[in-house]
Amino acid sequence: MKNKSIKQVIASQKVNMGGHIIDQPLPNKLMGQLDPFLLIHHAEWELKGNQKQQEVGIGGHPHRGFSPVTFVFQGDVQHQDSFGNDVIVEAGGTQWMHAGKGITHSERPSAELALKGGTQEIIQFWVNTPSKHKMDVPYYLPLTEEKTPIIESGDYKIQIVAGEYNGIKGPAKTFSPMLLMRGKINTQGSIDFEIPNHYNTLIYLLDGDLEINGTSAKGKDLIWFGNDGDRIDISANADTRFILLSGEPINEKVTSYGPFVMNTQTEIMEAIRDAQMGKMGVLIEKFS
Ligand code: MN
Repeated sequence: MKNKSIKQVIASQKVNMGGHIIDQPLPNKLMGQLDPFLLIHHAEWELKGNQKQQEVGIGGHPHRGFSPVTFVFQGDVQHQDSFGNDVIVEAGGTQWMHAGKGITHSERPSAELALKGGTQEIIQFWVNTPSKHKMDVPYYLPLTEEKTPIIESGDYKIQIVAGEYNGIKGPAKTFSPMLLMRGKINTQGSIDFEIPNHYNTLIYLLDGDLEINGTSAKGKDLIWFGNDGDRIDISANADTRFILLSGEPINEKVTSYGPFVMNTQTEIMEAIRDAQMGKMGVLIEKFS
């Protein structure tokens, strides 16, 4: 086994999302994507309370051609969609969706969180889909913390959301081989990961301070690994929360526009037209 080299440690950029400043580790000035991962947004905000749910979060919008995935770290996220799914996922859980040929969904803090106020912290990342599955029937999986397999020691707690690690399988269905994990390493803790050479691999730190294969990284950094080894050796200088996204590259042309990720400009034009014609479903949100 050989350690993966670190190509670069890249600090997140601040971006404005509808009046909220959030951290965007991907894309960044060096990488448009890390195939099959297209985008990572890390948002943490305070809800002031005494608000209606319809005043917070993101209302109905369509997607096609990829999987938008949300890891919930604090607070909750309620997903409603044009297939009738309506589920709140709390901290430690995941809202997983494969948009396939088209679905319309909303993503909001729950009515209770809007009313009571509090922190909502999430990471949303976009996983690309191989062309032959882009027009599949949409797939939705809400995943609680309890239903997410865990590897635990006194030093760390790691959850496997998709792919397989040490014989433990994550529940989410993917369309190309990948391994997606989220976890926490305590101060002075250490852990090794073994991940195939040919998987494109990144780690993003929500906070904390780590040594990774001999290189230092801190909160809001993205660590981009080379495809020249299979081992990641981590020791923590502080309590650190992280996500690890790793997968076989799809190696297809990506053409994206807003909430659609396809292969060609023609397919994007079709997506825009289909969404306008209501072919990606209609969502009438329910508010309590
Ligand atoms: Mn969305």
